Amino acid sequence: MQEDLQEILFDQQAISQRVAELGAQISADYADRVDEGIALVCVLRGAALFAADLARAITLPLRLEFVTASSYGMSAVSCGTVDVVEHCPLEVRGRHLLLVEDILDTGNTLSALMEHYAACGAKSVETVSFLVKENRPNRAITCRYAGFECADEFVVGYGLDYAQRYRNLPFVAVLKREVYQEA
Ligand code: 5GP
Ligand code: MG
Repeated sequence: MQEDLQEILFDQQAISQRVAELGAQISADYADRVDEGIALVCVLRGAALFAADLARAITLPLRLEFVTASSYGMSAVSCGTVDVVEHCPLEVRGRHLLLVEDILDTGNTLSALMEHYAACGAKSVETVSFLVKENRPNRAITCRYAGFECADEFVVGYGLDYAQRYRNLPFVAVLKREVYQEA
């Protein structure tokens, strides 16, 4: 896999340090919401590794839920429509939801999910994204918590894929253009 990578942006150590900081911040911010119930909602599949680490960095009781929201398919360009699939019926009403995303790009995924869960009666819906693209087209859409700002390149690793590959890289790297432009 290494020969397909142009540059490492965030290594294992930087990631674990940042995830620990996010966990501490979220634990402090959500301490008074424990009684009503907190759910981390992991947006599959890209956020799975981040959510697993983040959940362990949060010191409060919480539920761990999973939703699939897909806008990319097999390409490296967002197609703009977002499919939402809940794998288990999620008990949303009255709970505080924290949506866990891998990367915020156009914001289509997060805004579709926030609308979806607000309509389901969640007490609050906030978002945490591991990465945020610096030059994303719609800067009006933001997330409550962000891991790292990242250059406007196609990145893989730490859960992020290209055509279902590279998710298991323990760091985040820029994928060489020729890898996805050939396809
Ligand atoms: P948005 O809906 O904000 O445009 O895109 C969010 C989704 O697009 C992310 O959850 C991720 O699956 C995918 N995505 C956006 N940029 C990248 C990227 O640089 N690399 C990878 N692997 N996926 C990306
Ligand atoms: Mg995703």
